[in-house]
Amino acid sequence: MPVAHDAEDVRRLAGASRRSGLDVLDSEVSVCRACPRLVAWRELVATEKRKAFADEPYWGRPIPGWGDARPKVLVVGLAPAAHGGNRTGRIFTGDRSGDWLFASLHRVGLARLPTSVRAGDGQELIGTRMLAAVRCAPPDNKPTVEERDRCAPWMDAEVALVLPHLRVAVALGGFAWQALLASLARLGEPVPRGAARPRFTHGVEAQVGGLLVLASFHPSQQNTFTGRLTEAMLDQVLGRAAASAGLGPILQP
Ligand code: SF4
Repeated sequence: MPVAHDAEDVRRLAGASRRSGLDVLDSEVSVCRACPRLVAWRELVATEKRKAFADEPYWGRPIPGWGDARPKVLVVGLAPAAHGGNRTGRIFTGDRSGDWLFASLHRVGLARLPTSVRAGDGQELIGTRMLAAVRCAPPDNKPTVEERDRCAPWMDAEVALVLPHLRVAVALGGFAWQALLASLARLGEPVPRGAARPRFTHGVEAQVGGLLVLASFHPSQQNTFTGRLTEAMLDQVLGRAAASAGLGPILQP
């Protein structure tokens, strides 16, 4: 399998995977080594581990997208958590943010189970796919601008492959909102520009061609512990996504 070692490799392999399909894309993303700082961090975390997970093997690699291959709903996050996705190998799986997100997805009819604990736990997304804008866990959950841009071709390839099926995309947090709109613009979609582009806040929406783009505050502990994001607020956005895509129950405002 080809392995990306720099930005040019990522562009070339991601571009080719748009013709090969999601399986090839997922495989090639999962062995990418194009960001030296993130490769070192993800592997250090996977070696040192958190005490509570000392007996578990860590994934310690990039996290590919996960879910329906022909989704109507796409959920976009920032990056995997060091002891969540970087441990379990599945996006939003095994950490507090994922607990919140999957509980809400289940309540609105987009996830089979209310929890997402580990790969192979029986969880299944319904008409929905998830991806992270940056595929490797960054220190302090903060990728650099260069790392964001280096990883962007992987996101572009995945969005391009699922776009024909999508009706709704949900960005979790301002980073994901900017990354998603930038990706759609690079793919030639009619993203509003300048003052016409809605600024990120919880509940904001943008119509991009036939795609409805929604925003929610990220279900990080920083937001959920402080009450900045409540279960009802997250359910409202994800419920709107489900209803707009013709999936799940329709939540009343
Ligand atoms: S962040 Fe993206 S581009 Fe950088 S090493 Fe990980 S998968 Fe590759």
